[in-house]
Amino acid sequence: VCRSYIHLFRCVTRCRMEEQKEVLNRLQRSFRSGVPLPEQFRLAQLDALLKLMTENEDQILAALHQDLNKPKFEAVLSDIEMVTNEICFAINNLHTWMQPEYVSKNLATKMDDCFIRREPLGVVLIIGAWNYPVQVTLSPLVGAIAAGNCALLKPSEISQATEKLLAELIPKYLSQECYAVVCGGAEETKKLLENRFDHIFYTGSQPVARSILQAAAVHLTPVTLELGGKCPCLIYGNLDIKAAAKRLVWAKFFNAGQSCVAPDYVLCTPQMRDDLIPAIRATLESFYTSEPQKCPDMARIVTDRHWNRLTEMLRKSAGKVVMGGESDQQDRYIAPTVLVDVQESDVLMDEEIFGPIMPILTIETLEEGIDFVNRREKPLALYVFSDDSKVVTTVLEQTSSGGFCSNDGIVHMTLQSLPFGGVGASGMGSYHGHWGFETFSHRRGCMMRSWVLEPINVLRYPPYQESSLGW
Ligand code: NAD
Repeated sequence: VCRSYIHLFRCVTRCRMEEQKEVLNRLQRSFRSGVPLPEQFRLAQLDALLKLMTENEDQILAALHQDLNKPKFEAVLSDIEMVTNEICFAINNLHTWMQPEYVSKNLATKMDDCFIRREPLGVVLIIGAWNYPVQVTLSPLVGAIAAGNCALLKPSEISQATEKLLAELIPKYLSQECYAVVCGGAEETKKLLENRFDHIFYTGSQPVARSILQAAAVHLTPVTLELGGKCPCLIYGNLDIKAAAKRLVWAKFFNAGQSCVAPDYVLCTPQMRDDLIPAIRATLESFYTSEPQKCPDMARIVTDRHWNRLTEMLRKSAGKVVMGGESDQQDRYIAPTVLVDVQESDVLMDEEIFGPIMPILTIETLEEGIDFVNRREKPLALYVFSDDSKVVTTVLEQTSSGGFCSNDGIVHMTLQSLPFGGVGASGMGSYHGHWGFETFSHRRGCMMRSWVLEPINVLRYPPYQESSLGW
């Protein structure tokens, strides 16, 4: 029985690999024949993607609810609108983005045409994560289509309902010659990565990113990595505590803390902590009532594995729970939880929390806070809350992070004109708006030489004369 099971498993794996290969061959053929290249084709596909989003909004919301119990408001804001805004922005700007960029010239190239031409890379692979499964899969696709590529999407298998829906909808709306979805988890993705792609755009965790880079190295494939990390929130100096608590709580507990840009931990003085705690408590109650488990605005933890990971972290932490702490495995619920007296060596400070747990750590001075941040890996986002612009500027100038936002959290990533991406361990490359188009384009430096100035070329032809140097 065991042997025939192994045989069956091998057959299924081989079939899947053959299927993957067939899909990839189809996309490569289409790219080589120039199908996704014309501006009109790109616009038509972006229109079709917009139609997919608007005609299926209810189904998308239902899938997100099934996967994460995502509140409708949060799903609309973070998955639906982020993608539709991205599509509309690309449609409105595509013509401009596609124009050659003429560059400055020197004396020797005065009569030539010198410009940068944006060209598609080829067939790109987009691997998505589960926390914003529509946004992190379709937003990069917008950039890939706009730049004239073919694309293979691999949504996260963890957000299963959304994965299934995307696999069903994409072929219905988009050109099957140029775009496709493959489903599956780690094993299928590893097999997929054995193939040559022209670019890999990966959103997910740091450990998996290492294997993505290794697989890409085999084919020298360029990679964009949109990762996570521990985003600090420094709160320092005078400020409106009530407003700060609202913005902080919203950013932290949105999607039950399962956001790559969620403030992971708070750094503030002991005095600030004492002022913040009652403000956070009042905010939590006004946002999610005194029984957050019954509140429709509180999302759930995506899987039992993540629920176990988070509750285990809470159990092992030496910090003191001052709010929340309750959990219910059946419901994959964890209450919005705040801890104080958390040390740098605490389990909560080891890796990205990615859940509704917020440790507050204390510092005595701003310099100590900056030093704390700089001792750790560069985060995807860094937040500073303060009324004092000197505090904000000091933190901005003395730290490094993928993005930066003062006096709020998460919202900086909603602006298409800002690049979104990490630095150091939080990722490489960026996207959103024009940046997505650039990520999926090759900037080809072109010089169209004129024959007019041939007489001055004697200066560079042998026999060389040193007196010609510096012409
Ligand atoms: P993950 O790395 O476990 O999975 C991401 C994708 O990789 C999935 O599609 C999965 O099927 C695939 N995968 C998993 N194991 C693999 C392997 N061994 N080889 C090849 N592929 C594999 O990440 P996740 O749990 O889905 O997402 C959470 C992480 O993503 C967090 O760290 C979060 O901060 C980060 N994230 C970052 C952004 C961003 O834009 N920077 C956005 C969302 C999430």
